[in-house]
Amino acid sequence: MSSSTFFSHYPYSARRRRWLGMVASALVLGAWSAHAVSREPLPVVATFSILADMVKEVGGDRVAVTTIVGNDADAHGFEPKPQHAKALREAKVLVLNGLDFEPWLPRLTQASGFEGIKVLATEGVKVRRLGGRDTDAGHDHGSAAKHDGHSHGEADPHAWQDLTNGMIYARNIAAGLSKADPRNANYYESRASSYIARMKALDNEVKAAIAAIPPDRRRVISSHDAFGYFAAAYGVDFIPISGLSNQSEPSARDVARIIQMARDTGVAGVFIENMSSSVMAQQVARESGVLMGGTLYADALGPVDQPASTYLGMISWNAGRLVYVLKQSLQN
Ligand SMILES: [Zn+2]
Repeated sequence: MSSSTFFSHYPYSARRRRWLGMVASALVLGAWSAHAVSREPLPVVATFSILADMVKEVGGDRVAVTTIVGNDADAHGFEPKPQHAKALREAKVLVLNGLDFEPWLPRLTQASGFEGIKVLATEGVKVRRLGGRDTDAGHDHGSAAKHDGHSHGEADPHAWQDLTNGMIYARNIAAGLSKADPRNANYYESRASSYIARMKALDNEVKAAIAAIPPDRRRVISSHDAFGYFAAAYGVDFIPISGLSNQSEPSARDVARIIQMARDTGVAGVFIENMSSSVMAQQVARESGVLMGGTLYADALGPVDQPASTYLGMISWNAGRLVYVLKQSLQN
Protein backbone atom coordinates (compact mmCIF):
# COMPACT_ATOMS: atom_id res chain seq x y z
CA MET A 1 0.00 0.00 0.00
CA SER A 2 1.50 3.36 -1.06
CA SER A 3 1.45 6.24 1.39
CA SER A 4 -0.93 8.24 -0.86
CA THR A 5 -3.60 5.49 -0.92
CA PHE A 6 -3.04 4.96 2.78
CA PHE A 7 -3.59 8.62 3.53
CA SER A 8 -6.52 8.87 1.14
CA HIS A 9 -8.69 6.81 3.50
CA TYR A 10 -8.56 9.62 6.05
CA PRO A 11 -9.94 13.15 6.04
CA TYR A 12 -7.24 15.84 5.92
CA SER A 13 -7.13 16.75 9.64
CA ALA A 14 -6.94 13.13 10.75
CA ARG A 15 -4.21 12.48 8.16
CA ARG A 16 -2.25 15.43 9.44
CA ARG A 17 -2.61 14.35 13.05
CA ARG A 18 -1.53 10.85 12.17
CA TRP A 19 1.50 12.13 10.24
CA LEU A 20 2.56 14.31 13.16
CA GLY A 21 2.12 11.32 15.44
CA MET A 22 4.39 9.23 13.22
CA VAL A 23 7.04 11.95 13.22
CA ALA A 24 6.86 12.13 17.01
CA SER A 25 7.15 8.34 17.37
CA ALA A 26 10.11 8.31 14.97
CA LEU A 27 11.83 10.94 17.09
CA VAL A 28 11.20 8.98 20.29
CA LEU A 29 12.35 5.73 18.64
CA GLY A 30 15.42 7.49 17.28
CA ALA A 31 16.38 8.82 20.68
CA TRP A 32 15.70 5.43 22.24
CA SER A 33 17.78 3.48 19.72
CA ALA A 34 20.64 5.98 19.90
CA HIS A 35 20.67 5.40 23.68
CA ALA A 36 20.37 1.63 23.25
CA VAL A 37 23.23 1.53 20.73
CA SER A 38 25.55 3.64 22.89
CA ARG A 39 24.63 1.54 25.98
CA GLU A 40 26.08 4.07 28.36
CA PRO A 41 26.09 2.39 31.77
CA LEU A 42 24.25 4.23 34.54
CA PRO A 43 26.79 6.21 36.65
CA VAL A 44 26.35 5.23 40.31
CA VAL A 45 28.33 6.31 43.38
CA ALA A 46 28.45 4.00 46.44
CA THR A 47 29.78 5.40 49.70
CA PHE A 48 31.89 2.35 50.66
CA SER A 49 33.19 -0.95 49.29
CA ILE A 50 30.47 -3.26 50.63
CA LEU A 51 27.67 -1.19 49.05
CA ALA A 52 29.68 -0.90 45.82
CA ASP A 53 29.88 -4.68 45.55
CA MET A 54 26.12 -4.98 46.10
CA VAL A 55 25.45 -2.37 43.40
CA LYS A 56 27.69 -4.28 40.97
CA GLU A 57 25.83 -7.51 41.74
CA VAL A 58 22.40 -5.92 41.21
CA GLY A 59 23.39 -3.55 38.37
CA GLY A 60 25.59 -5.94 36.35
CA ASP A 61 26.90 -4.42 33.13
CA ARG A 62 24.23 -1.69 33.09
CA VAL A 63 25.94 0.35 35.82
CA ALA A 64 29.36 2.00 36.27
CA VAL A 65 30.12 2.15 40.01
CA THR A 66 32.45 4.61 41.72
CA THR A 67 33.37 3.75 45.33
CA ILE A 68 34.15 6.59 47.74
CA VAL A 69 35.70 4.65 50.66
CA GLY A 70 37.59 1.73 49.15
CA ASN A 71 38.65 -1.75 50.29
CA ASP A 72 40.36 -1.99 53.69
CA ALA A 73 39.51 1.68 54.47
CA ASP A 74 37.51 3.04 57.42
CA ALA A 75 34.39 5.00 56.45
CA HIS A 76 33.74 6.31 59.98
CA GLY A 77 36.67 8.74 59.92
CA PHE A 78 36.95 9.40 56.19
CA GLU A 79 38.01 12.71 54.57
CA PRO A 80 36.54 13.23 51.06
CA LYS A 81 38.72 14.58 48.24
CA PRO A 82 37.87 16.69 45.14
CA GLN A 83 37.60 13.60 42.91
CA HIS A 84 34.74 12.33 45.09
CA ALA A 85 32.76 15.55 44.53
CA LYS A 86 33.36 15.22 40.78
CA ALA A 87 32.15 11.59 40.74
CA LEU A 88 29.01 12.60 42.67
CA ARG A 89 28.28 15.52 40.36
CA GLU A 90 28.30 13.13 37.37
CA ALA A 91 26.33 10.37 39.10
CA LYS A 92 22.66 9.59 38.51
CA VAL A 93 22.37 7.49 41.69
CA LEU A 94 24.02 7.69 45.12
CA VAL A 95 23.80 4.60 47.36
CA LEU A 96 24.46 5.23 51.05
CA ASN A 97 24.19 3.24 54.28
CA GLY A 98 22.90 6.03 56.50
CA LEU A 99 22.54 5.61 60.31
CA ASP A 100 25.46 8.07 60.74
CA PHE A 101 27.93 5.71 59.10
CA GLU A 102 28.97 8.44 56.60
CA PRO A 103 29.08 11.65 58.71
CA TRP A 104 31.09 13.36 55.93
CA LEU A 105 28.44 12.71 53.26
CA PRO A 106 25.93 15.60 53.65
CA ARG A 107 28.66 18.21 53.14
CA LEU A 108 30.16 16.33 50.20
CA THR A 109 26.76 15.89 48.52
CA GLN A 110 25.97 19.56 48.89
CA ALA A 111 29.39 20.71 47.65
CA SER A 112 29.21 18.40 44.62
CA GLY A 113 25.88 19.67 43.24
CA PHE A 114 24.61 16.06 43.00
CA GLU A 115 21.13 16.00 41.45
CA GLY A 116 20.44 12.28 41.13
CA ILE A 117 18.48 9.75 43.14
CA LYS A 118 19.59 8.91 46.70
CA VAL A 119 19.16 5.29 47.76
CA LEU A 120 19.18 4.69 51.53
CA ALA A 121 20.29 1.05 51.60
CA THR A 122 19.08 0.55 55.20
CA GLU A 123 15.53 1.76 54.49
CA GLY A 124 13.23 -0.71 56.26
CA VAL A 125 15.98 -2.41 58.29
CA LYS A 126 15.31 -3.07 61.99
CA VAL A 127 17.89 -0.75 63.54
CA ARG A 128 19.99 -1.88 66.50
CA ARG A 129 20.32 0.90 69.05
CA LEU A 130 22.61 1.28 72.04
CA GLY A 131 20.91 2.67 75.10
CA GLY A 132 17.46 2.66 73.53
CA ARG A 133 15.00 0.32 71.92
CA ASP A 134 15.18 -0.91 68.33
CA THR A 135 13.32 1.04 65.65
CA ASP A 136 12.75 0.84 61.90
CA ALA A 137 15.16 2.77 59.64
CA GLY A 138 13.69 5.66 57.69
CA HIS A 139 10.78 6.19 60.05
CA ASP A 140 9.36 9.63 60.55
CA HIS A 141 11.14 11.36 63.39
CA GLY A 142 8.85 14.37 62.92
CA SER A 143 5.74 12.68 64.32
CA ALA A 144 6.84 12.96 67.93
CA ALA A 145 3.37 12.37 69.31
CA LYS A 146 3.18 8.94 67.69
CA HIS A 147 6.51 7.90 69.18
CA ASP A 148 5.90 9.60 72.49
CA GLY A 149 8.37 8.63 75.20
CA HIS A 150 10.48 6.21 73.24
CA SER A 151 14.20 6.58 73.51
CA HIS A 152 16.19 6.27 70.31
CA GLY A 153 19.70 5.71 71.60
CA GLU A 154 22.69 5.65 69.30
CA ALA A 155 22.00 3.87 65.99
CA ASP A 156 24.32 1.00 65.06
CA PRO A 157 25.11 1.46 61.35
CA HIS A 158 26.66 -2.00 60.71
CA ALA A 159 23.40 -3.60 59.53
CA TRP A 160 25.06 -5.38 56.56
CA GLN A 161 26.61 -7.90 58.98
CA ASP A 162 23.24 -9.76 59.02
CA LEU A 163 22.45 -11.34 55.62
CA THR A 164 18.73 -10.75 56.18
CA ASN A 165 19.54 -7.04 56.12
CA GLY A 166 21.75 -7.60 53.07
CA MET A 167 18.59 -8.82 51.32
CA ILE A 168 16.84 -5.55 52.21
CA TYR A 169 19.85 -3.60 50.90
CA ALA A 170 19.67 -5.51 47.59
CA ARG A 171 15.93 -4.79 47.20
CA ASN A 172 16.46 -1.08 47.97
CA ILE A 173 19.33 -0.88 45.47
CA ALA A 174 17.26 -2.60 42.75
CA ALA A 175 14.37 -0.18 43.38
CA GLY A 176 16.69 2.85 43.20
CA LEU A 177 18.41 1.71 40.00
CA SER A 178 15.02 0.95 38.44
CA LYS A 179 13.76 4.41 39.32
CA ALA A 180 16.79 6.06 37.71
CA ASP A 181 16.82 3.70 34.72
CA PRO A 182 13.28 2.27 34.24
CA ARG A 183 14.14 0.61 30.90
CA ASN A 184 16.34 -1.88 32.76
CA ALA A 185 14.01 -2.38 35.74
CA ASN A 186 13.35 -6.06 34.96
CA TYR A 187 17.07 -6.69 34.61
CA TYR A 188 17.81 -5.12 38.01
CA GLU A 189 14.93 -6.91 39.73
CA SER A 190 15.88 -10.30 38.38
CA ARG A 191 19.56 -9.86 39.29
CA ALA A 192 18.53 -8.77 42.81
CA SER A 193 16.37 -11.89 43.16
CA SER A 194 19.17 -14.28 42.24
CA TYR A 195 21.58 -12.36 44.50
CA ILE A 196 19.09 -12.66 47.38
CA ALA A 197 18.77 -16.40 46.73
CA ARG A 198 22.55 -16.71 47.21
CA MET A 199 22.32 -14.65 50.42
CA LYS A 200 19.61 -17.00 51.75
CA ALA A 201 21.73 -20.06 51.01
CA LEU A 202 24.75 -18.57 52.80
CA ASP A 203 22.57 -17.43 55.71
CA ASN A 204 21.42 -21.06 56.21
CA GLU A 205 25.00 -22.32 55.98
CA VAL A 206 26.29 -19.86 58.58
CA LYS A 207 23.44 -20.66 60.98
CA ALA A 208 24.04 -24.41 60.63
CA ALA A 209 27.81 -24.06 61.21
CA ILE A 210 27.38 -21.96 64.35
CA ALA A 211 24.58 -24.19 65.68
CA ALA A 212 27.17 -26.98 66.01
CA ILE A 213 28.90 -25.02 68.83
CA PRO A 214 27.35 -24.92 72.34
CA PRO A 215 25.74 -21.46 72.89
CA ASP A 216 27.75 -20.80 76.06
CA ARG A 217 31.03 -21.33 74.18
CA ARG A 218 30.56 -18.64 71.54
CA ARG A 219 32.24 -15.61 73.05
CA VAL A 220 34.94 -13.56 71.27
CA ILE A 221 36.52 -10.09 71.41
CA SER A 222 36.36 -7.71 68.43
CA SER A 223 38.14 -4.39 67.84
CA HIS A 224 35.10 -2.13 67.56
CA ASP A 225 31.36 -2.65 68.00
CA ALA A 226 30.72 -3.69 64.37
CA PHE A 227 29.19 -7.12 64.91
CA GLY A 228 26.01 -6.43 66.89
CA TYR A 229 23.79 -7.42 63.96
CA PHE A 230 25.90 -10.52 63.31
CA ALA A 231 25.66 -11.41 67.01
CA ALA A 232 21.86 -11.10 67.03
CA ALA A 233 21.40 -13.02 63.77
CA TYR A 234 23.86 -15.87 64.31
CA GLY A 235 24.20 -16.20 68.07
CA VAL A 236 27.87 -15.30 68.64
CA ASP A 237 28.68 -13.11 71.65
CA PHE A 238 31.05 -10.24 70.76
CA ILE A 239 32.85 -8.09 73.34
CA PRO A 240 33.99 -4.94 71.50
CA ILE A 241 37.11 -3.07 72.65
CA SER A 242 35.97 0.26 71.09
CA GLY A 243 32.50 1.71 70.54
CA LEU A 244 30.42 1.97 67.36
CA SER A 245 33.32 3.57 65.45
CA ASN A 246 37.10 3.34 65.73
CA GLN A 247 37.16 7.09 66.37
CA SER A 248 36.12 6.45 69.96
CA GLU A 249 39.26 5.40 71.86
CA PRO A 250 38.59 3.13 74.84
CA SER A 251 39.90 4.32 78.20
CA ALA A 252 42.61 2.41 80.07
CA ARG A 253 39.90 1.36 82.52
CA ASP A 254 37.74 -0.04 79.67
CA VAL A 255 40.66 -2.05 78.35
CA ALA A 256 41.48 -3.39 81.83
CA ARG A 257 37.81 -4.41 82.27
CA ILE A 258 37.82 -6.27 78.92
CA ILE A 259 41.06 -8.07 79.80
CA GLN A 260 39.55 -9.16 83.12
CA MET A 261 36.38 -10.31 81.37
CA ALA A 262 38.43 -12.28 78.84
CA ARG A 263 40.26 -14.07 81.68
CA ASP A 264 37.07 -14.80 83.63
CA THR A 265 34.47 -15.72 81.04
CA GLY A 266 36.11 -18.10 78.59
CA VAL A 267 36.68 -15.97 75.53
CA ALA A 268 37.72 -18.09 72.54
CA GLY A 269 39.73 -15.51 70.60
CA VAL A 270 40.60 -11.88 70.03
CA PHE A 271 39.95 -10.69 66.48
CA ILE A 272 41.48 -7.79 64.60
CA GLU A 273 39.84 -5.85 61.76
CA ASN A 274 40.95 -5.32 58.21
CA MET A 275 40.37 -1.56 58.28
CA SER A 276 41.76 -0.48 61.63
CA SER A 277 44.84 -0.74 63.83
CA SER A 278 45.35 -3.99 65.74
CA VAL A 279 47.49 -2.51 68.55
CA MET A 280 44.73 -2.53 71.17
CA ALA A 281 43.54 -6.04 70.22
CA GLN A 282 47.09 -7.36 70.52
CA GLN A 283 47.43 -5.78 73.96
CA VAL A 284 44.17 -7.41 75.10
CA ALA A 285 45.25 -10.81 73.75
CA ARG A 286 48.70 -10.55 75.34
CA GLU A 287 47.44 -9.51 78.76
CA SER A 288 44.50 -11.91 78.94
CA GLY A 289 46.33 -14.90 77.51
CA VAL A 290 43.56 -15.38 74.90
CA LEU A 291 44.66 -16.41 71.39
CA MET A 292 44.58 -14.02 68.44
CA GLY A 293 41.77 -15.30 66.21
CA GLY A 294 42.84 -13.57 62.99
CA THR A 295 41.13 -10.95 60.86
CA LEU A 296 37.42 -10.21 60.61
CA TYR A 297 36.13 -7.93 57.86
CA ALA A 298 34.02 -5.31 59.59
CA ASP A 299 33.33 -2.14 57.59
CA ALA A 300 35.21 -2.75 54.35
CA LEU A 301 35.94 -5.56 51.92
CA GLY A 302 39.38 -7.10 51.60
CA PRO A 303 41.77 -6.64 48.66
CA VAL A 304 40.67 -7.74 45.18
CA ASP A 305 41.28 -11.48 44.55
CA GLN A 306 41.09 -12.26 48.28
CA PRO A 307 38.16 -14.35 49.60
CA ALA A 308 36.68 -11.33 51.40
CA SER A 309 36.72 -9.08 48.34
CA THR A 310 32.94 -9.42 47.93
CA TYR A 311 30.06 -9.03 50.40
CA LEU A 312 29.19 -12.74 50.35
CA GLY A 313 32.88 -13.65 50.49
CA MET A 314 33.30 -11.38 53.50
CA ILE A 315 30.40 -12.93 55.48
CA SER A 316 31.58 -16.39 54.53
CA TRP A 317 35.18 -15.61 55.62
CA ASN A 318 34.07 -14.07 58.92
CA ALA A 319 31.79 -17.00 59.77
CA GLY A 320 34.44 -19.54 58.78
CA ARG A 321 37.11 -17.79 60.86
CA LEU A 322 34.81 -17.54 63.90
CA VAL A 323 33.69 -21.17 63.72
CA TYR A 324 37.30 -22.34 63.36
CA VAL A 325 38.45 -20.39 66.44
CA LEU A 326 35.38 -21.33 68.54
CA LYS A 327 35.92 -25.02 67.74
CA GLN A 328 39.61 -24.75 68.67
CA SER A 329 38.67 -23.38 72.06
CA LEU A 330 36.24 -26.27 72.68
CA GLN A 331 39.26 -28.57 72.79
CA ASN A 332 40.92 -26.58 75.59
ZN1 LIG B 1 32.26 0.45 62.10
